[in-house]
Amino acid sequence: MCGIVGFTGKTQAVGFLLDGLERLEYRGYDSAGIAVLDGGLKIEKTTERIKNLMDKTDNGKNVSGTIGIGHTRWATHGVPSFENAHPHTSSDKKFAVVHNGIIENYIQLREELKADGVEFVSETDTEVVPQLLSKYYEGDFFAAVAKTIARLEGSYALGILCTDCPNTLIAVRKFSPLIIGLSDNANYIASDVTAIVSHTKDIMYIEDGEIAVLTPDGVKLYDSDKNEINREPSVIDWDISAAEKGGYDHFMMKEIMEQPNAVKQTVDSRIKGREIVFEGLKLDEAKLKTIERIDIIACGSAYHAGMVGKYVFEELLRIPTNVDLASEYRYRNPITNDKTLTIIISQSGETADTLAALKEAKRLGSHTLSIVNVVGSSIANASDDVIYTWAGPEIAVATTKGYTTQLSVLYMIAVWAARLLKSADSKRIERLFDELCRLPELIEKVILEEPKIKEMAKKCGDPKSLFFIGRNIDYAVALEASLKLKEISYIHSEAYAAGELKHGTISLIEEGRTVIALASFEELFDKLLSNVKEVKARGAKVIACATEGHTEIAGEAEEVIYIPKTDPLLIAALEVVPFQIYSYYVALYKGCDIDKPRNLAKSVTVE
Ligand code: GLU
Repeated sequence: MCGIVGFTGKTQAVGFLLDGLERLEYRGYDSAGIAVLDGGLKIEKTTERIKNLMDKTDNGKNVSGTIGIGHTRWATHGVPSFENAHPHTSSDKKFAVVHNGIIENYIQLREELKADGVEFVSETDTEVVPQLLSKYYEGDFFAAVAKTIARLEGSYALGILCTDCPNTLIAVRKFSPLIIGLSDNANYIASDVTAIVSHTKDIMYIEDGEIAVLTPDGVKLYDSDKNEINREPSVIDWDISAAEKGGYDHFMMKEIMEQPNAVKQTVDSRIKGREIVFEGLKLDEAKLKTIERIDIIACGSAYHAGMVGKYVFEELLRIPTNVDLASEYRYRNPITNDKTLTIIISQSGETADTLAALKEAKRLGSHTLSIVNVVGSSIANASDDVIYTWAGPEIAVATTKGYTTQLSVLYMIAVWAARLLKSADSKRIERLFDELCRLPELIEKVILEEPKIKEMAKKCGDPKSLFFIGRNIDYAVALEASLKLKEISYIHSEAYAAGELKHGTISLIEEGRTVIALASFEELFDKLLSNVKEVKARGAKVIACATEGHTEIAGEAEEVIYIPKTDPLLIAALEVVPFQIYSYYVALYKGCDIDKPRNLAKSVTVE
């Protein structure tokens, strides 16, 4: 999830490794480490800044060797700690590995290796990799790598060293970024161009499942059947700042585009066959069956994800569900007990109000389950159960992939619980499960609409105010879409439950006012269409979003974005995406500071 670097060359490796890790620091990390090979492996780790690695190694002077790997960790399995920091080694110290991603079948592999007598020193999923390499090694480094990756499920970018091959660095990837840099005196690997771009502009891309063998003299690439592949390097002309953003102008757009992968990571890691498995969850079937109410507590966008959760849980579980703002809950003398499941949502896991609300719910005897992105964060540590979103670091202040991965976890909880409680039609649940697995691909389809949305945003200009309307899940999405626009473009906008307009707010609709009508929840499409007619009759300019096939709305709206058809409960994860993109471009055309909007902080650690 975070950063990898690797080097094999004719000069010392450590300079590049430390410099590369420093260049990856902007992404955020919880620990870091390097391994350099010179006879044996020399490993240095830190749970502090890269600067600490520099101090420990006297700026690299006391680590010699012309081949090495380095890592910044964004923990997914095991708390941030010295033992869990990478590189990880095999017990015989023959292999050292850095890894980004998640090895989904690590528990099974760990058990298997333990039965062989292997002793693990970390809690990470990663450590199975060097241990497997050692198990399969019979004098052929490449063959051991090929055998090992054939056993791995999940996502990975790996940089691997073997003490028997003092010049050879092997790199592989699957669903996690990794590139190769080429130069006359050295060859490099890195999880993003930032780490390499000041050393070489000649880049070779590795595809999923390919194995790259790097030596100081060259790079050979093999497919999964071990056939050599010829690939021409590309020359990149990015500078450092473009490289940090993966070629995008802003982190927000990078993170919008990362959503298919982020959601895939969140969902796939919990799916075993057709089962949804949350490792280590204390909320078991017996406990779940005692639950009479669900309280979802969060702030900001996480609260909006919770709103979607309410509709989904009530529909599928038939358990009354409340959604509360953490800042309200904590001071309201809330009513809760051991028959209430309290779900706490926070990207950073450090949101002060949410943490206080969690403690209050726990004190009153409720079972607390948090949905958090940052492993080992205060909220994760304080709750009875935690399900991580595994979205990877989110840097833009306005959340995008944080929100859609929170939704994905809520959807998974709903399907998992509905199966245990048998609270909804089983055919519907199984269809929903299938659609949940397709979410990444469906989000990808929505993203293809970007050029059209950009044009729409150009026409938006800088209105005094606009409205989002929707019903049911469309309403929950309207809240998030409106917040996104407000946060980064500073345009006043309000989200309204469409049926509520006529109880007051319709007085604000006048000639030329833009109303964005979210009409993707099919069951209530006709009702929403009537609301669109109401606002049009009062002069509003309507932009609509509907599911494919609902072309009737084009007769009423000036612009329509269509999203793919899926189970109505899942539309939130699709429908929000066009409005993330819309908000981005509206803010861009207004000249706003998109990644750092005024007055806002990424993680609100004060009340
Ligand atoms: N899953 C691995 C761990 O938790 C790798 C995390 C990363 O990509 O930084 O150690």
